[in-house]
Amino acid sequence: MWTLRTTRVTAVAACRWLLLAAWPLNVLFTGLLAVTVVLGLVTEQSVIVRASLTLAAHYAIGLNGSFALHELGHLAVLARAKGVTAITLERSLWRTSISPHGRLGDRDAALAALAGPGACVGVGVILWLSAPSLQLHGWYLAHVVFLIPSFADGRTLLSAAHRGAADAARRRRERRGNR
Ligand SMILES: [Zn+2]
Repeated sequence: MWTLRTTRVTAVAACRWLLLAAWPLNVLFTGLLAVTVVLGLVTEQSVIVRASLTLAAHYAIGLNGSFALHELGHLAVLARAKGVTAITLERSLWRTSISPHGRLGDRDAALAALAGPGACVGVGVILWLSAPSLQLHGWYLAHVVFLIPSFADGRTLLSAAHRGAADAARRRRERRGNR
């Protein structure tokens, strides 16, 4: 487990956090891909080479790129949130996470939860409209699923909405009581 607690996230820290995520899987994938491409070149099977390169693009830009963008979306909001004094970036072999320290307001918590999947859906729509033949948009659009409450982003959004609604009801009651 790699952990960094910082008051200011630098580009180097963000790269160490995201580029080395799931590195054993990336090493295995790159090794197998290299062998397949070499085999395709040696046997002059251009179909194998093309298919391998397409798979590599989906793996790097689609799968890894969309998860990196998702985490950067959370980071962009949390790094600017009022009351957040430090941020912990974590990476284990299979997952990355980000935790704010200090006091995170409901509005910023909801915005941060939305920003991860939202950034991916935004890029997915752009890819879909501008280059649908690349077939990469699906990886990005699929991040909308993280907004359902089975996932942390969906749960954060739901609880922030509940607390916001409860606060608004309490303020209304107080206003009525003051009259
Ligand atoms: Zn997320």
